[in-house]
Amino acid sequence: MSDSIKVALLGCGVVGSQVVRLLDEQAEELAARVGAPVELAGIAVRRPQRHPEVPAELLTTDPAALVARPDVDVVVELMGGIEPARDLLLDALKNGRSVVSANKALLAEEGEALAAAARESGADLYYEASVAGAIPLLRPIQQSLAGDRIRRVAGIVNGTTNFILSAMESTGAGYADALEEAGRLGYAEADPTADVDGYDAASKAAILASLAFHTRVTAADVHREGIRDVTATDIASARALGCSVKLLAICEQVDTADGPAVSARVYPAMIPKSHPLASVSGAFNAVFVEADAAGALMFYGQGAGGPQTASAVLGDLVAAARNRVIGGRGPRDSAYAHLPIQPMGEVRTRYHVNVDVHDRAGVLAAVASVFAAHDVSIATVKQEGRGGDDEGHGDGDASPATLVVVTHEASDAALQATVEALSGLEAVRGVASILRVEDLGRPVSALGGAQ
Ligand code: NAP
Repeated sequence: MSDSIKVALLGCGVVGSQVVRLLDEQAEELAARVGAPVELAGIAVRRPQRHPEVPAELLTTDPAALVARPDVDVVVELMGGIEPARDLLLDALKNGRSVVSANKALLAEEGEALAAAARESGADLYYEASVAGAIPLLRPIQQSLAGDRIRRVAGIVNGTTNFILSAMESTGAGYADALEEAGRLGYAEADPTADVDGYDAASKAAILASLAFHTRVTAADVHREGIRDVTATDIASARALGCSVKLLAICEQVDTADGPAVSARVYPAMIPKSHPLASVSGAFNAVFVEADAAGALMFYGQGAGGPQTASAVLGDLVAAARNRVIGGRGPRDSAYAHLPIQPMGEVRTRYHVNVDVHDRAGVLAAVASVFAAHDVSIATVKQEGRGGDDEGHGDGDASPATLVVVTHEASDAALQATVEALSGLEAVRGVASILRVEDLGRPVSALGGAQ
């Protein structure tokens, strides 16, 4: 057996504390798998007094000094945030230390700089735990599918929003009540912004798109919409169409007039209940990967949690430690393709649009003509609330009604222009909601019930 592999652990919170536990509990097995004992050199935290479970001599509040120690082989970063994690990991990589991180925000923003530092020094940089927690996803994309051509990676990569949307669907609750329930059960943080506004999912989409399409994609390249505006009515409309509403991260390689491009986007969308992603409920994650030769693959499991995420971290740690024992290094990130990002306006999907109108003769024709004028073809239209009471709406001349329009595929720019033009119609009270309808590779005819 070789000399021990020394690990500097940065952060000992939800995930880090589980890494410490598993390293201790599985020490013998890990040593046998790596070919050398794997030992903690030190653990950096902010408040050592909060970690009585950890041997005091391992704790430090000086992560820079820990990373700089000459006996450290691998730095495992589980602090989160951009700084000081970025500088610490750049220093570690420049000095030839291998790095394991679960930090999606950092990888999505600084992936290029970190990969360059790893390339130059020949160190490993692994971050399996940064996307979809316990689910092995990045390694399959990067290694198992390295000989294939990936076309699409799409899925549910944020457990908090999936919990909220699942609760809205199963109980009929509104967004605010479902968010409160998620917070009470520990699925949503006190400040849920990163989750509900789609930032977390956008970081993960950037990482997935970068690996799948060999092109550096950052979180800023990802079109992002959160779930705050999803209403109980939207969920009910989806049900009427045979659909569920999910916050999707969609990364595709698309053919444009100028050649291939990458589309990366995060938004809530209706998907047919018959699609396997529709039955992913609660805090679970699931990702579909479609490749030319392999076809469709689905990865499913727990996308967060201390032990679950620690499992992925330890997988990376074992890989990095093994490489150091045998004196090699693992496959690098490849970003040779340099594909452009497709502007969101060019992205084509179907749409479900609720248009509040004054229920008068000719309103349907007027609305339909606006869609037609912008080249957005209507698949189905249904009128709700006809003959209702207009008391309190102040219109005086006609009952309020809602036109529920489902379109065929149209570009995002065409749909936005349609909505703007609709707002100018005298017969239109307002556009109440717009949700995309994603078929995710299924034939359009698979969407039933929209009559
Ligand atoms: P956490 O519970 O908040 O723990 C963060 C740890 O980092 C704490 O131990 C904290 O010290 C330490 N820390 C923070 N800033 C520091 C600094 N400047 N110097 C020294 N120590 C510092 O976070 P977590 O949930 O374990 O998440 C860690 C990483 O894993 C994040 O990047 C997160 O996105 C990612 N991740 C988490 C999950 C999950 O389920 N939690 C899933 C996938 C990925 P104190 O304890 O003293 O405050």
